Amino acid sequence: MGFIQDIRPVFNKTKIKLRDKIHEANDIYTFIFDKSDALNWKAGQHGVFNITHRKVANPTRPFSIASAPFENKIQLSMQISESPSEFKQAMLELEPGMEMDMRGPIGPMYVDTPQQPILFIAAGLGITPFRAILKDLANRNTYEAVYHLFYINHSEVFLYADELDELSSKHPSIRVQYYQDRNILYKDISNYATYQGNQGYYYVAGSQAMVGSISDLLRSNNIKKGHIKKDIFRGYKS
Ligand SMILES: Cc1cc2nc3c(=O)[nH]c(=O)nc-3n(C[C@H](O)[C@H](O)[C@H](O)COP(=O)(O)OP(=O)(O)OC[C@H]3O[C@@H](n4cnc5c(N)ncnc54)[C@H](O)[C@@H]3O)c2cc1C
Repeated sequence: MGFIQDIRPVFNKTKIKLRDKIHEANDIYTFIFDKSDALNWKAGQHGVFNITHRKVANPTRPFSIASAPFENKIQLSMQISESPSEFKQAMLELEPGMEMDMRGPIGPMYVDTPQQPILFIAAGLGITPFRAILKDLANRNTYEAVYHLFYINHSEVFLYADELDELSSKHPSIRVQYYQDRNILYKDISNYATYQGNQGYYYVAGSQAMVGSISDLLRSNNIKKGHIKKDIFRGYKS
């Protein structure tokens, strides 16, 4: 798909109803909404979400959809600190049955080369699109290549770790490695890039600083721009 096709659905607005709200750990929350039959997306894409139950100064934020379409739910995970934005305060007020608006799905962060090896690199909440993508690849059950996930987090609590471990134990084509030390991560990325080179594709998601720095590292390992997909979570600082 091209840029225009990936972005055009931003004009489609859907009302979504909250099914469940989960306090995962520390300041991480997950929101699960019902999925209508009409709403579909490619695993890894994001939506643009709008608070509608009350007036909020800046009521709109983009979030990756952390669920795959076959799961029949729209799942979002986000950091909500002790003094969050008004948007996130309003998210916390949502109770099951309450609604918000979603525009999209949009964006190019989906797998279009499943037949080639892919290294997914998640920094913190950058794991959200990759949960969706790996669930989707596992559900298709047609492994054409080996997919690695390198997942770095500054805290010891890795969101979705149980599900990721289950995926990799059931599906040998999915390999997951966790990191807390950036130097070790960067060494492993360089080793992978040296070995796989431009036979593989590289998907990176997280804060602007992390995605920029990992993308520079890949480029310095001679990975072509066209082999790197970036999901920059603008506004996310961890
Ligand atoms: C394509 C895309 C996908 C995204 N997907 C996700 C996702 O899945 N999950 C997710 O959480 N976010 C995601 N984001 C980012 C999201 O849209 C918000 O911008 C982000 O969560 C910040 O939310 P907030 O502005 O409500 O601020 P809050 O998180 O409430 O923070 C309040 C203010 O403090 C600042 N701040 C926050 N942390 C720090 C820090 N450590 N140091 C200094 N200042 C800080 C923020 O910039 C903000 O101004 C995505 C963004 C894009 C573009």
